[in-house]
Amino acid sequence: MSANEQSMRRVTAIKNGTVIDHIPSGYSLTVLKMLGIGRVMSNPVSMLMNVPSKKIGSKDMIKVEDRELNQYELDRLALVAPHASVSIIRAYTVAEKLSINLGKEIVNVARCAFSNCITANPREPLPHRLIVLSDDPMEIRCHYCGRMQEIDQLVERLI
Ligand SMILES: [Zn+2]
Repeated sequence: MSANEQSMRRVTAIKNGTVIDHIPSGYSLTVLKMLGIGRVMSNPVSMLMNVPSKKIGSKDMIKVEDRELNQYELDRLALVAPHASVSIIRAYTVAEKLSINLGKEIVNVARCAFSNCITANPREPLPHRLIVLSDDPMEIRCHYCGRMQEIDQLVERLI
């Protein structure tokens, strides 16, 4: 059995739901947080971490049962997993394949990391806009103060 077939067998274990594959290793907990799993979503979830991957060396994978994630929810994940691949599972088979779109802007996903940015002022209820300069490596700048952001700092400041 090839490594790919083995990972597909892991995937096919759920009856209905969503499988998010090719998450960079170590980011599955962040992805769960970004999806609001455990907070606004109480569906059964399973996680595989550090699965060998030909494509990205080592990856994480998440399976959400009985819930089809929509494109809006998936696009939020672009901050940490822009190259993840998503399968919608119905009756144990892949019914749809979706991908994550990293647009030119990431809006209301995370806050600028700088405390003296205008977005940190509660009297200025501005949308949180981050400009994507490059996706590989990821380079992100705040729309308002223009400062470059570290992904790990943004992850601590998810909205
Ligand atoms: Zn800023």
